[in-house]
Amino acid sequence: MAAQRLALNFIVAAGAAVVLQASTQAPQTALTAFARFTLIDGSAAAPVPDAVLVVRGQRIAAAGPASRTPVPDDAQRIDLSGRTVMPGLVNAHGHAGSTVGLESRPELYTEENLRRQLALYARYGVTTVVSLGDDREAGFRLRVENDSADLRRSRLYVAGPVIVGSTPEEARAAVDAAAAFKPDWIKIRVDDNLGTTAKMPPEIYTAVIERAHQRGLRVAAHMFYLADAKGLLRAGVDFLAHSVRDADVDRELIDLMKARDVCLSPTLMREVSTFVYKTRPAFFDDPFFRSGAEPKVLAALEEPSRQAAVGKDRAAQHYKRALDVARRNARALHAAGVRLAFGTDTGPPGRFQGYFEHLELEEMVKAGLTPSQAIIAATSEAARCMGLADRVGTLQPDRYADFIVLAKNPLEDIRQTRTIDSVRIAGNSVR
Ligand SMILES: [Zn+2]
Repeated sequence: MAAQRLALNFIVAAGAAVVLQASTQAPQTALTAFARFTLIDGSAAAPVPDAVLVVRGQRIAAAGPASRTPVPDDAQRIDLSGRTVMPGLVNAHGHAGSTVGLESRPELYTEENLRRQLALYARYGVTTVVSLGDDREAGFRLRVENDSADLRRSRLYVAGPVIVGSTPEEARAAVDAAAAFKPDWIKIRVDDNLGTTAKMPPEIYTAVIERAHQRGLRVAAHMFYLADAKGLLRAGVDFLAHSVRDADVDRELIDLMKARDVCLSPTLMREVSTFVYKTRPAFFDDPFFRSGAEPKVLAALEEPSRQAAVGKDRAAQHYKRALDVARRNARALHAAGVRLAFGTDTGPPGRFQGYFEHLELEEMVKAGLTPSQAIIAATSEAARCMGLADRVGTLQPDRYADFIVLAKNPLEDIRQTRTIDSVRIAGNSVR
């Protein structure tokens, strides 16, 4: 009995300590000045050679050219000669928590698994992840720690359960239930999975969007078809979580998106993941990939029977063609001034968290963006589209000190985002 009470007291005390750490931080005064590097600040500004970045506690105090950015006398100085510094990547469409190896099940969603995955994203320089759906209680719990001064993993924002309902009343009730947890987004799926499943009809998604807006929540939609994207936009959707993949975008879609400044996440790697394991992908030999991948997962993906099944899969062939459409549409939307929010749909089996974000940047450049435009989409634009621009996405004063130190400049070759020397989150080293 006494032992039992002691154990209970311990749990209560441990819980109180966590809350204290997360919500009442002591003022942070530790000052660090990074110097002599090239700064890419995430905005549309030109890169700054010979830059200085001053970090006070978990936030940026100053960033700019050495000639105009004073270094406080009491700052610890770190020389980053020859390096390039850019903001941590902001993934506007990821998933975390439900996958272990090549298995994905609700029971796998645990705090431990979430922490492991958020640490993995962080080591690859993905410092913020908006998990768009299938988020459970532990995800909401971890979100509270985002503002902790000793954060050492990717910041997590969550959408909660994907909203479903067979009547508008059911759908509204599902929004109400999700809203009780204060999600960052409401997520819906409007897709028939290449004609194999029932698609959420307009009367249901309209009810979801209206009820979410009444509750002050924004709605992100998974969709595939151009006609559905337009229907969702007319119904007031706030974010298109994938590319339009059945047809080229047209003026009507562009006008609908621009009228309310709605962003789209191309998630090109989602398409790649459907067909790439037909053979052994070249990236399996990349040491940067191998540093975060489990050998037994790679072995499973290399099994001849699995490769043959991918090769014969009709959906995989369809999505491979859809990738070409998605690339064309990413370029067309960007050229028309629609905001692209970098996103990957990583997290499900075979979509490698952390590494795939670097492949997505390369895909965006293949689609026709410049390296600079791809980096802006992956930092300031993703943050702005997600409503996080006051916290992350740029290396400007008062934002969190979430950044990547690179050995080589990615503006010269986007694949050089993979030359990571170190990663900081809230000023703390995570790699
Ligand atoms: Zn998704």
